[in-house]
Amino acid sequence: MGQSDLAPPYAIPEMAIAALPEDERLWVPQAPNVWFRPLLLNTTEGQWVNLLRVRKSGVLSRHRHPATVHGYVIKGSWRYLEHDWVAHAGMYVFEPPGEIHTLVVDEGVEEMITFFHISGALIYFDDAGETCGYDDVHTKIDMCRKHFAEVGLGEDYVSQFIR
Ligand code: FE
Repeated sequence: MGQSDLAPPYAIPEMAIAALPEDERLWVPQAPNVWFRPLLLNTTEGQWVNLLRVRKSGVLSRHRHPATVHGYVIKGSWRYLEHDWVAHAGMYVFEPPGEIHTLVVDEGVEEMITFFHISGALIYFDDAGETCGYDDVHTKIDMCRKHFAEVGLGEDYVSQFIR
């Protein structure tokens, strides 16, 4: 009896892909000098897994996490304005529910790439501390669809990352 005969009939498909893409078009623009590369867009659990790439002077505006984030720094370094530590390549970062922060890449760092597993959402705040937007797995899917359509891959290209 082969492995496939033992597989539960309703199991969803596995995935094994190069995380760092050779095709630049897989980096979806998020903000000036900020991109994400989708890996897993989990619409059942409301989570997503992606690589975040920030180049010089890029800032990910202030947001709150209602659920956990796990990060692993692959390249470069970055920090949060709200904390006194710096995340360097090779470091693991855990962000608990309720965490509020602004991600910046400092002068002298050309590029950072970090693997993030994010649950729930990013809830954005303006300078007055008022909620001004959010991202969740569905806004990420929408951003991917628009970008992949624009760069000629077609909006349905995103479907391979969705579970
Ligand atoms: Fe965050």
